Amino acid sequence: MKSLVAILLTLILCSCQERKDQLHLTQGLYISNTTIVSTEDGNYKPYIGHIVVEKDKIVYVGKYEPNISGTFEQIDGTGKFVIPGLIDSHVHMSDVQGMLQHHKEKYPQLVKEFNTQMPRSYLYYGFTAIINLGGISDEQINAYKIQPLKPDLFHIGYSGAAVANGYPMIYTPEEFRFEMEPNFIYMESQAEHIPDQYKPADHTPKAVVKRIKNSGAVAVKSYYESGFGRMSNLPVPTKSIMTELRNESHANGLVLTVHANSLTGHSFLADIGVDILAHGLWNWEKYKDVPTDSLPLEIKETLDVQIQKQMGYTPTLTVIEGEGALVDNKFINQPALKKVVPKKLLEWYKTEEAQWFAQELFSESNAEEVHKIYGNVQAHAMLVLKYLSDNNGLILFGTDTPSGPIYTNQPGHNGYWELKLMKKAGVPLAKILASATINNAKAFHLDSALGSLAMGKKANIIMMTKNPLSDIEAYDAIEKVVIGGEVVNREDLEVKE
Ligand SMILES: [Zn+2]
Repeated sequence: MKSLVAILLTLILCSCQERKDQLHLTQGLYISNTTIVSTEDGNYKPYIGHIVVEKDKIVYVGKYEPNISGTFEQIDGTGKFVIPGLIDSHVHMSDVQGMLQHHKEKYPQLVKEFNTQMPRSYLYYGFTAIINLGGISDEQINAYKIQPLKPDLFHIGYSGAAVANGYPMIYTPEEFRFEMEPNFIYMESQAEHIPDQYKPADHTPKAVVKRIKNSGAVAVKSYYESGFGRMSNLPVPTKSIMTELRNESHANGLVLTVHANSLTGHSFLADIGVDILAHGLWNWEKYKDVPTDSLPLEIKETLDVQIQKQMGYTPTLTVIEGEGALVDNKFINQPALKKVVPKKLLEWYKTEEAQWFAQELFSESNAEEVHKIYGNVQAHAMLVLKYLSDNNGLILFGTDTPSGPIYTNQPGHNGYWELKLMKKAGVPLAKILASATINNAKAFHLDSALGSLAMGKKANIIMMTKNPLSDIEAYDAIEKVVIGGEVVNREDLEVKE
């Protein structure tokens, strides 16, 4: 009896609540009668409902028609689908795709046009938040902030926490290396190769994480990479360094995301239990030539530990796909690129000068051989991803745009490519959407403002003409992008001639 009273009372209170929803708007947005596709826990139950935004915040989401007054713009969402803005949790926005420093100095106009279009290109494909996982300067952050339309930017500070002379700082000439990587970790084994002015006490995990925290970062990035190609046998962090990095990150409210793509790296990090793996496991090392249709036991065991610890796994399939695509001109001739890459830059990419990296990578192989090698690696990467997806792994959407000095990972465009590759690997559409929204938001502690359509969260909303739970092409059927409450038509984000 008591419980019946309680139920009745709840019903009465709820219906009153619905009727009471009197919203007075001063700078509002009302999206009516639309299919809402959002989740807090990975389970989707789309329904037709309404969303109300005041300034940059969502103030109402629900099935019932809200009672609103004041000043607002109304969008009829009939027949449309709305999702929370997408989050790419692995980008490098401080690079210009395909250019080295001397190219940037030679073509300042191309750099300028790229930097103006870059944030718009992310938005064009529905990315309303990006997490920069490479070093970034205040100057770069400020230059980004003055762009009128841009995704929310989060970062890892002035540099990652790489071990001295390890990956990736080894790629910077010795005279600038330490200055460029102010958050490097001092290792005794490297002492002779560290300039005297850098004191060990300033480069312990504790000191480094504190500095990263103070620079406004949301995460600490580290690396487990012994190298590839000409650069191999690089120093890697010890178990105690990585454990300390994780503990210090947590003590400072940050997450630890670590670059690794080899079996050795993934199993080392699984054992420690870092928060996020910034790449998929595609370098199978001694298993690299095994067939592409089943997982070796040792790899399965490593993935099982990652699943059991619910470590975030960022597939970054476009790293492999993008690098392989440098070998021929199929990529560069895609009509879709014209919408997101400035015309003159696109033309430059087709010149001999812009082919420098492709020539360096593929001087000794033809296109067929390259596709075969990369295809094999990608098949392994996809097999791992499918296993994680089938076994309740925590998948986080991230592209690594661009993964190197390559023009084949373009802002936004690369995100759509990654989404399609995840689908190709066999990840269900609901998991793909969750990976790019709520999973990323929770993993990076951004879920109080981002990741779902809920009251009090930031109004980053994507309106599509197709259902993202039944059609991957929905991500290219975007009609409107709402960024911080501002409504933008997709075509207004295209490259202006
Ligand atoms: Zn990266």
